[in-house]
Amino acid sequence: MKILLVDPNLSERQASRQLLEDDCALREAETGAEALKLIEPDTTCVLVEYALPDMSGVEFLVQLRSQGQDLPVVLLTAEESHDVAARARQCGADEVLPKRMANAESLRRAILGAVNRRALESNLRRERARPELIYRLIDESEDLFFALGRHGEIVEANLATERALGFSKQELLGSQLSNHPLFDRVAGRLLDRLRSANLNESLRLEGELIQADGRPAPTEINVMRVRVSGEDFLVAVARNISERKALEEHLRRLSLNDALTGIANRRAFEARLADEWRRAARAGSSLALLLIDIDHFKAYNDTLGHPAGDACLRAVASRLSTAMRRPEDLLARYGGEEFAVLLPATDSAGAMTFAQHLQETLRRAALPHPASPTGALVSISIGASTTQQFLDRSHSTLVAAADVALYEAKAAGRDCLRFRAA
Ligand code: GH3
Ligand code: MG
Ligand code: MG
Repeated sequence: MKILLVDPNLSERQASRQLLEDDCALREAETGAEALKLIEPDTTCVLVEYALPDMSGVEFLVQLRSQGQDLPVVLLTAEESHDVAARARQCGADEVLPKRMANAESLRRAILGAVNRRALESNLRRERARPELIYRLIDESEDLFFALGRHGEIVEANLATERALGFSKQELLGSQLSNHPLFDRVAGRLLDRLRSANLNESLRLEGELIQADGRPAPTEINVMRVRVSGEDFLVAVARNISERKALEEHLRRLSLNDALTGIANRRAFEARLADEWRRAARAGSSLALLLIDIDHFKAYNDTLGHPAGDACLRAVASRLSTAMRRPEDLLARYGGEEFAVLLPATDSAGAMTFAQHLQETLRRAALPHPASPTGALVSISIGASTTQQFLDRSHSTLVAAADVALYEAKAAGRDCLRFRAA
């Protein structure tokens, strides 16, 4: 234990030191002001004489406590005065010990008593502060915390909820959740949970809260039905997840779009092909696929350089993209200088017409190709295929047929299209 001994009288200090020095490290001060400076973070207890040259022991206590010092203090008094003891305790003394009773044992007992009392008081203070602390913690949150009573009335709400709803807590308490436009889209589901959820089971809802400007904000709401003092409540935490949703959408786009041309990538194409294959099989409709390959693109690169090649790929993608007509049709970059077009509910005649339309579009774009043996402009060859037979077949048969057709178009001199049924 580290004890700070405050006593102007040297012989008194020596007497106390002798009583304590076996198991205590002692520091000594002669005045109150000196003592206040000598307190260290690891000081265990202050032993202070009532009569100090610059202040009384009680004044010392007042100053000590006003500095926020929570140290245990034992006040040593010359005489046994009930008034002094009571006043000292009021001002923050933990123990008051008349000097004439001070011996090794009583001093130690007083010190331990002071230490224990401080610890107890500090625990009590913490306990008392806990509800307020929890409120403050909840109020600091940007998430909406609220609790509903059995009939859907708001029984508790944090500051974020007050702000979001535009009412003070007094105004909010007792009001129906469903009366607040913010909860328009989710109130029904929350009330359902209140009635049907199992006790203490945590559930997550995703919905939209309507913001003050009327715009919906994607929100995640964690709810639990709890029973407190025999009454059921729904406690809920609602968090705005706009940023997360936007990020997810951004990542989804990144993962499905081709970085160079901005159109769908091969992965997006494969996923849609599988979907459309199943859909066409169910509907009994036909599915068409065009595989498009730029003619003599190696020569283009070799002559104009790779960056010019990239620009050309972007230009072709952009022209093809503007030539698309139906929202359900998909244009994707299939690989290097190859593109794929998926045309749901399209038969062979429709596929050929659309392929011609794409070729026309590119001819009209008149992108120069200085190194093409086929002509002066960038041209494309197209292999088209359609099918209406899906049973026991994989969508790769459609791709394989279009690929054969494309090979035939190349063999036929390029800048043309060929068809193969799958
Ligand atoms: P064909 O008419 O038979 O299709 O001849 P081609 O030269 O177009 O075909 P080939 O397969 O020999 O060459 C394709 C070229 O496309 C080679 C490659 O460098 C180029 N290429 C593929 N991807 C890219 C790309 O992202 N950027 C650029 N600049 N070039 C690419
Ligand atoms: Mg190719
Ligand atoms: Mg090519």
